Amino acid sequence: MNENGIVIIGAGHAGVQAAASLREAGFAGPLKLIDNETENPYHKPPLSKAYLTGAAADAQPLRAGVFFEQNGIERLSGTAVSAIDPAGQSITLADGWVLPFGHLVLATGSVARRLNVPGSDLPGIHQLRTRADAQALRDALAGARRAVIIGAGFIGLEFAAVAATRGIETTVIEASDAILKRALSRPMAEYLHERHRAAGVTFRFQETVAAFLPAEGGRIGAARTASGDDIPADIVLVGIGADAETGLARQAGLAVGNGIIVDHQLRTSAKNISAIGDCALFPHPQAEMPIRLESVQNATDQARCLARSLTGSPTSYDAVPWFWSDQGPLKLQIAGLSQGHDRTVLRGDMASGRFSVFCFRGDDLVAAESINQAADHMAMRRILKGVRRPSPSQVADAEFSLKAFAA
Ligand SMILES: Cc1cc2nc3c(=O)[nH]c(=O)nc-3n(C[C@H](O)[C@H](O)[C@H](O)COP(=O)(O)OP(=O)(O)OC[C@H]3O[C@@H](n4cnc5c(N)ncnc54)[C@H](O)[C@@H]3O)c2cc1C
Repeated sequence: MNENGIVIIGAGHAGVQAAASLREAGFAGPLKLIDNETENPYHKPPLSKAYLTGAAADAQPLRAGVFFEQNGIERLSGTAVSAIDPAGQSITLADGWVLPFGHLVLATGSVARRLNVPGSDLPGIHQLRTRADAQALRDALAGARRAVIIGAGFIGLEFAAVAATRGIETTVIEASDAILKRALSRPMAEYLHERHRAAGVTFRFQETVAAFLPAEGGRIGAARTASGDDIPADIVLVGIGADAETGLARQAGLAVGNGIIVDHQLRTSAKNISAIGDCALFPHPQAEMPIRLESVQNATDQARCLARSLTGSPTSYDAVPWFWSDQGPLKLQIAGLSQGHDRTVLRGDMASGRFSVFCFRGDDLVAAESINQAADHMAMRRILKGVRRPSPSQVADAEFSLKAFAA
């Protein structure tokens, strides 16, 4: 590492954790954390949960404001990086200022995917990625009577639960034939679908939006589906997923797929440049192909792993993936990667609202999805760290102690 130290682009979960972990690991050189947002770095998950319902009045800071100063982390906020020169080891900021780096960390996150149909820019159509987005949605919810959500993914469904709880007529339009089709096992997706339906949410599957139509006054009035129905709406959330923020990496000539390509130590194709968090496409021992994960766990564990590597203990990234989502009163927790599973085993009773679905690939346990069953989730995270796996009949047996097995 030369005297220019480490520059981190992106002060989200990954970037802030990287800065903190570097200091914890003893890195004493110059450390800069640059972000194009102006506010203090904050937790994103509550934006579609407690912040939206108003249970949390403000965004929850990732670290107290003094943390950065006390730890000698120079923050450049409201500052966009516009270019990287990998050979010259420097970056250019939007105002033209050039900053050299010894090592560069790309923690640029992801951006909400846009829906490009006529009327997409009408007032009343929202996306949800930043605190400002969440504030706009929260304000709009106050007077809303009919909500339309495009996309039955995690954020869309969390928002649907909030809207329906308020008595807002809520419709979800989804292109595929099920909710969370790529993310969840079929039994879990069917269970959640039924619970949302029972809470008053209407689903339109195998349907897309052809256009948004204005009401009198020019605000959103309805979503027109491809099959020609107009669904009235005074608020719309487009929740059709997010794309890795790869613009800078691409422009700099780094290898990029559906994320910035890194190796098992989170190194990009350019010397002295790493990528972590939502923007990174990485190999994982539990995945057949390189994957990109959008989760707080992945962002923070990759940051810790990189900090170890940059402070003299080269470390391969192999943390067990886990995730959570609050769907109204239901706490969904996922441990492992369920892609490619061919069998599921139910543990517990769905009717009780506390159960887990265990996903197997052949005889190999690869993931568990739990509803209001944190003990199963925690046990599964420990199990996936080791080599021994319980069998399908063991996990189905209520008398079998997963906790003891995990220990
Ligand atoms: C509404 C919402 C709810 C979520 N709920 C959950 C949940 O329940 N559980 C869970 O595990 N995960 C959840 N997530 C996902 C989780 O928040 C992300 O995986 C996590 O934020 C990724 O962290 P990151 O640091 O990689 O990216 P981000 O947090 O997106 O941070 C990237 C930062 O980089 C900045 N940046 C990008 N390009 C530049 C540039 N050129 N110059 C300067 N700055 C730049 C961006 O402005 C941003 O501040 C949720 C996400 C959202 C949006």
